Amino acid sequence: MSAQVNPELIETLEEYGVTDASTCFNCGNCTAVCNLSTESVPFPRKVIRYLQIGAKDKILQSPEPWLCYYCGDCSETCPREANPGEVMMGLRRYLTSLYDWTGLSRLFYTSKAFEIIAILVVAGLIGLAFYLFHGPMVTDRVALNVFAPNHVIEILDLIMAAVLSFFLLTNAYRMFSAIMAQPLPGEDEASVKRRKRSPLKGVPVRYYIQEGKEFVIQFITQKKFASCEKREKRIQWISHLLVMTGYSTVFLLVVVGIRWFQRDEIYPLWHPIRLLGYYATFGVLYGVSYAMIGRLKKSSTVYEHSHSTDWIFLILLWLTTFTGILIHFTRLLELPLATYYIYAIHLMIAVPMLVLEVPFAKWAHQLYRPLVLYLMKVRERAAQES
Ligand code: SF4
Ligand code: SF4
Repeated sequence: MSAQVNPELIETLEEYGVTDASTCFNCGNCTAVCNLSTESVPFPRKVIRYLQIGAKDKILQSPEPWLCYYCGDCSETCPREANPGEVMMGLRRYLTSLYDWTGLSRLFYTSKAFEIIAILVVAGLIGLAFYLFHGPMVTDRVALNVFAPNHVIEILDLIMAAVLSFFLLTNAYRMFSAIMAQPLPGEDEASVKRRKRSPLKGVPVRYYIQEGKEFVIQFITQKKFASCEKREKRIQWISHLLVMTGYSTVFLLVVVGIRWFQRDEIYPLWHPIRLLGYYATFGVLYGVSYAMIGRLKKSSTVYEHSHSTDWIFLILLWLTTFTGILIHFTRLLELPLATYYIYAIHLMIAVPMLVLEVPFAKWAHQLYRPLVLYLMKVRERAAQES
């Protein structure tokens, strides 16, 4: 079977943050030290080799970059300072751009200016919409639902969620097709070809259904990350977990439950919705601040290199959370005008983060990683049963 070879691939990957891969001499030390690498799916050495020989198709079909949680162990012990952990990170960015059929992801990763302009354009449109369509600004009390009625925000949220889901799921389907195109052990070429044309062929649908819990468990707990025993890495996992669960909670509160979340009467302190809001705020703020401080101080191997998209994402998420906290305080302090202005600014930050980062950039890994872990389970099951 012929593989597409791209001799410039290693240079292309530089734009995605991979700068040291050419120094790797394939000793395999990184694969030996990685806690997550297994005999049947060894990494990171193998994909670094694919990168060095320019095997773009092989990389596209590789699940390995998504199995790495970037603990940094391999980078700390690489004798050639090839930084394999960062190579895996760069490969995840590159794969995200390959899955994305719109081409926007590639532009975000390869042009900082394009990403910033896109964010400013979306923020400007939200600001303009507020300027033109906001409701009356009641000043004798805080009346957020008069300024921005929650039933209108709910409709706009649902439209946004539908558009996001469309892009994210169509990109995820491309990932699914690429991962499932890999031959199963002992599989003949004709059946691999059939699956390339139609990804559901060759693996019974019941395996997808029976292994579905794997997706849910990995999505919620990120438990693979926890298999690293070092204390510092465990803190990293907890911080990652807080961001993921906090973000998912707030996403559900504002997209699905906005009519209960955005109310003019403030809930009592122990009300479940208020507590969920506090948990989400704490989780995201702690996790994002931890990552930002780590990157500023370059406090560990995993924070030594930062791609511009990492910073843009962290800053947007931090500002979204911070302006959310400000709104809470202006409401508690009964400051109507401050609440309305900060609310508009909050959405001018949150909406670009959601519509650009979720389907096309950093945040897409929230879906891709558990999806790959789930597909690996399905493949494992199919291999065992055959
Ligand atoms: S990345 Fe480093 S440790 Fe891994 S195979 Fe290459 S030289 Fe060896
Ligand atoms: S960064 Fe950690 S999880 Fe990723 S390949 Fe290296 S050792 Fe494995």
